[in-house]
Amino acid sequence: MEYDIVIIGGGPAGLSFACSMLDSDVKVLLVERSDIDSISNPQNDGREIALTHLSLKILKKLGVWDLIDQSEVSPLREAKVFDGDSPSLLNFTVDNSSIEALGYLVPNCQIRKALYKRVLSSNNVDIVTDVSVDDVVNKDALSKVLLSDGTSIDTKLVVAADSRFSEIRRKVGIPTLMKDFSKVMIVTKMNHELSHNNTALECFDYGQTLALLPMVGNSSSVVLTVRTDKSKEVLEMSEDKFNEMITGSFNGEFGDMKQDGPRHSYPLIATHAETFIANRFALIGDASVGMHPVTAHGFNLGLRGQDILASLVKDALMNGQDVGSNSLLKLYERKHIKLTRIMFFGTNGIVALFTNDAPMVKQVRRFVLRFAEKFPPIKYLISSQLTEAKNNKFLPF
Ligand SMILES: Cc1cc2nc3c(=O)[nH]c(=O)nc-3n(C[C@H](O)[C@H](O)[C@H](O)COP(=O)(O)OP(=O)(O)OC[C@H]3O[C@@H](n4cnc5c(N)ncnc54)[C@H](O)[C@@H]3O)c2cc1C
Repeated sequence: MEYDIVIIGGGPAGLSFACSMLDSDVKVLLVERSDIDSISNPQNDGREIALTHLSLKILKKLGVWDLIDQSEVSPLREAKVFDGDSPSLLNFTVDNSSIEALGYLVPNCQIRKALYKRVLSSNNVDIVTDVSVDDVVNKDALSKVLLSDGTSIDTKLVVAADSRFSEIRRKVGIPTLMKDFSKVMIVTKMNHELSHNNTALECFDYGQTLALLPMVGNSSSVVLTVRTDKSKEVLEMSEDKFNEMITGSFNGEFGDMKQDGPRHSYPLIATHAETFIANRFALIGDASVGMHPVTAHGFNLGLRGQDILASLVKDALMNGQDVGSNSLLKLYERKHIKLTRIMFFGTNGIVALFTNDAPMVKQVRRFVLRFAEKFPPIKYLISSQLTEAKNNKFLPF
């Protein structure tokens, strides 16, 4: 069997790249190891994805944004970062600016559903499910992709989007940095009496962090980060006790808060591949960089990366060149890896600073917050990263 491009993984990154290839002059196969229902009708997994303006632009370009149920999209107008009980506060807002929102919160399952729907409208992308890619064997002219059902496929380019724990990345021989935070992120939807005013809150409290992401109406996604050895207790806590604990943690600012739906948990392990490419092989999405979710950049970076790779592939097609050439892949890596490294190490640095409760570190972060709040270029740098402000002279990329 032969395809021009084989995509491994039908998560948001793999499906986005498949959408980017729609109606191009290439035959694409997407291989997903879970069943068809899990990608065509994904269930709510508790993740509210904060999309930047650049991501919105890419999703619109792909024809995916209009397929997302807009009644589930919540604009983010303000974000506040608190440090324990200290009065230090970092505040980002769209007030006095021409933009409507810092970003947009969308349930992950809605994004995935829309991406799948868009791919279905193509006639050059095939999807196989319930089958894993077991191995990729590199040859010079073509790569061989070996599937768990015994099928072997020859292809010019393999695009691996098989998660931050990518097995294929290891099999291809790409070393990866892994940072295990030994913490668990617990997320759940909660309804509350009072409005959130479309404001996200991030509270770095002693021993744990708590965030609130505004959803549509008087509902929010509550995100609790706890040490792994404490997570069982929080996950198994009765609903009444959990509601009471969260209501109290926000000092009753939202009135009574009530859990609506299950609590989901995610172990916090961040990863960054040493290189994003090998012979006729590229990593995208979490397989290239698996971010700590606190800065909400995982899928945003995934979308950006696949967009870079897709436009290089389209340029190659237009010029009658090889879509899996070394020069194309090197250019993809060069255009993407600098930003992912900055975001990865920057985010891990923020996590280290804001989750360490040693007195000295607390002093440092209060200083950092006060300095960042009073020094406009820092706030501008962060908010323009979200909103993709024009003429941004502070961004290093
Ligand atoms: C709590 C939480 C909140 C988040 N919030 C945000 C946010 O606000 N903003 C943001 O941008 N990002 C956010 N993220 C990150 C975002 O969810 C991820 O970056 C994104 O889901 C990664 O998509 P992916 O397609 O790369 O990988 P995955 O979603 O992990 O998909 C990988 C797919 O590959 C398949 N697969 C694996 N191995 C094989 C194989 N050998 N053969 C075939 N198929 C295979 C798997 O079955 C799976 O379907 C958050 C993450 C979490 C956990």
